[in-house]
Amino acid sequence: MDEIKQSYHKKNFLAGDIIFEEGAPADCAYIVETGQVEISVLLNGQSIVLGIAASGDLFGELGLINDDLRSASAQALDDAQLILIDRNMFKRKLDEADPIVTFFLRALLDRFQEVRSNLVTLKKEHEKQPAAQQRFNHNANYEADKTRTIHDIKLETNLLTALKEEEFVLYYQPITHLKKHAIQGFEALIRWQHPTRGLIPPSEFVSFSEKTGLIVPLGNWIIKEACRAQKILRNHFPDISPFISINISALQFEKPGLASTIAKIIHKYENNPEDIKLEITETLLMSNPEHASTTLHNLKKIGVKLAIDDFGTGYSSFNYLYRFPFDSLKIDKSFIDEILCNTKSAEIVRTLAHLAHNLGMTTIAEGVESPQQAARLLEYTCDFGQGNWISHPVALTDATALLAKFK
Ligand code: C2E
Ligand code: CA
Ligand code: CA
Repeated sequence: MDEIKQSYHKKNFLAGDIIFEEGAPADCAYIVETGQVEISVLLNGQSIVLGIAASGDLFGELGLINDDLRSASAQALDDAQLILIDRNMFKRKLDEADPIVTFFLRALLDRFQEVRSNLVTLKKEHEKQPAAQQRFNHNANYEADKTRTIHDIKLETNLLTALKEEEFVLYYQPITHLKKHAIQGFEALIRWQHPTRGLIPPSEFVSFSEKTGLIVPLGNWIIKEACRAQKILRNHFPDISPFISINISALQFEKPGLASTIAKIIHKYENNPEDIKLEITETLLMSNPEHASTTLHNLKKIGVKLAIDDFGTGYSSFNYLYRFPFDSLKIDKSFIDEILCNTKSAEIVRTLAHLAHNLGMTTIAEGVESPQQAARLLEYTCDFGQGNWISHPVALTDATALLAKFK
């Protein structure tokens, strides 16, 4: 797991533990996951409580922003679990931020410190208030930002833990040859088997993982796991040797060395490269077509198959179809949904199937939900169907059972 960059981590404190002391160097900020932490300052030898940080509160962040020594002390009031945000990571995030964001942050900090210098005096006057009433008080915007940021930090921490604890699992959705009515492959689709929340769909964490960069180690895990599954399926069904389709994200695609990483994995699991298909969305090609072309050709050299995913939802340039070396075209579910009731959608599907064939590609219709849709797709010479009409995505053992049923 050394490819996971230094990030947030959790630490437990016992009731009474000093987390940091006034005057000490500040090397990290904290978010309270559970428990309570008392923030206090010494004034004329007397300890004054500034506030109590409880679940979801951020503290110790000031020293990180302005490189100052700690201006207050923090002590666990009861057993507490904290998320630590270390200085190096914070600095890196700050460096990556737009300069205007950094500028605003520093300006706000100056103003905040002005207000804060008066706070100690004010707090002294209100010293007799019970500690529970002294929770931090901020305006509504700050609260909304804080809630979102803390949600993101918690999610990133939990996703990292999930990767280390192997909580991710791949589900497999059959891809059926329409004429033969036989399963010939599967698309691998990620799920998060959360210890308390159950099975979490990719919509809740894939684009977030893209944003944080976690998709790179996660994506490598997905490739390994999918290739391992292909080996298992091939051993069960050597005469079919079903192919596995793997979704490749933009960040994974941009990183150099994707082809050699995949080649090593294929070698390890002794897959026939032709049984591994990579799904790439058209939006991914648009941002840098030159780089895309080089990467796609490098992938072709190692023998894997390439599919253009979600075709029809983005820019849909036919340019992509002959410029890049795709083997298959996946027609987006939105067209299949309307194939029986909308003549324009039906005509688009029919035309795409013909065009793909003329360019030497196979077609896969996504999100086929009924036998009537499947029959119409066959009539339009579409090669494969994928959708709930055969099966929704299932665990590997169930995929084996499906293969036995539709072979
Ligand atoms: P996608 O690549 O277009 O995957 C097809 C999605 O359509 C899957 O949703 C699948 O369950 C759903 N689907 C298939 N047939 C039907 C149907 O008949 N009816 C309906 N209503 N839905 C159907 P899922 O698994 O929730 O994945 C959503 C998206 O998350 C995927 O869209 C893909 O963009 C992303 N994703 C999933 N797994 C991975 C992964 O391993 N890596 C990456 N980078 N992205 C992934
Ligand atoms: Ca896909
Ligand atoms: Ca798709």
